[in-house]
Amino acid sequence: MKIIRNIRHMQRSSRAWRRRDLVIGLGPTMGCLHRGHLSLIEIAKKKADITVVSIFVNPTQFSPSEDFGAYPRNFARDRKICADSGVTAIFSPRADEVYPPGFSTSVTEELLSKPLCGKSRPIHFQGVTTIVCKLFLAVLPDFAVFGQKDAQQALVIKKMTTDLNFPIDIVVGPIIREVDGLAMSSRNRYLSPERRKSALAIYRGIELCQEIFDNGERDSGRIKKIVTNEIETHGGRIDYVECVSIESLESIEKIKGSALVAVAAYFGDTRLIDNRVLEE
Ligand code: AMP
Repeated sequence: MKIIRNIRHMQRSSRAWRRRDLVIGLGPTMGCLHRGHLSLIEIAKKKADITVVSIFVNPTQFSPSEDFGAYPRNFARDRKICADSGVTAIFSPRADEVYPPGFSTSVTEELLSKPLCGKSRPIHFQGVTTIVCKLFLAVLPDFAVFGQKDAQQALVIKKMTTDLNFPIDIVVGPIIREVDGLAMSSRNRYLSPERRKSALAIYRGIELCQEIFDNGERDSGRIKKIVTNEIETHGGRIDYVECVSIESLESIEKIKGSALVAVAAYFGDTRLIDNRVLEE
């Protein structure tokens, strides 16, 4: 497995693979890999000849008050996981090459970035679209795999890819959960054992709303309420609980056909997100 630290080197490798007609799949990550990331690697490996995993904790998607400094990093462990999973190359550029002094260009998606996480993290998606754009131009993949865990991110990336005519397919993999249901996340390791238990309320809330939806509930107010109650009863602080269109992310009052229930909540200082697509 190659470890590529430099953008030109990445582009040279990718151009050589492309000349040989090899299909390149990219899985962008911030490292500290878990089974959620591994599921994306598995999806990529099925479709690609060359699987590239990028590992880059992207400073521009964190606001100054967020956890960029504390974000867990463990390259040695990630490297072993990737090697054992049959990844062709890790692309892990240095921040000073990605954002050299004087860097002044960003990519902004103006619509889908606004609601949900965009409200409480106003600079987040601009950071994400800019880095993903840069990763696309470094890795030159045929397709890239993202997780439904970050449902809004996946939609924003799809929109950017379409709007900017990137010849890159966006593949979205399902949410991978711990055995008890908590969605896997690098941030779960911030939780104390008690908070870890309380945080399961997010999953229970989502399961409850699935249950009432399956029993015929279509009123988004009642669906949101059941999730909110479950989280607040267990000491969580709601950032948002929304019921939105799975395409436009616009709020829905009465569900017709399908809806995305999206949740962000704090347990202590740890902000966790999760979601469920409700479908008839
Ligand atoms: P991150 O390293 O948190 O930036 O995540 C990198 C990619 O892995 C993103 O596309 C995430 O949506 C995806 N991902 C993170 N957690 C999960 C999970 N539990 N299940 C599926 N995909 C995930």
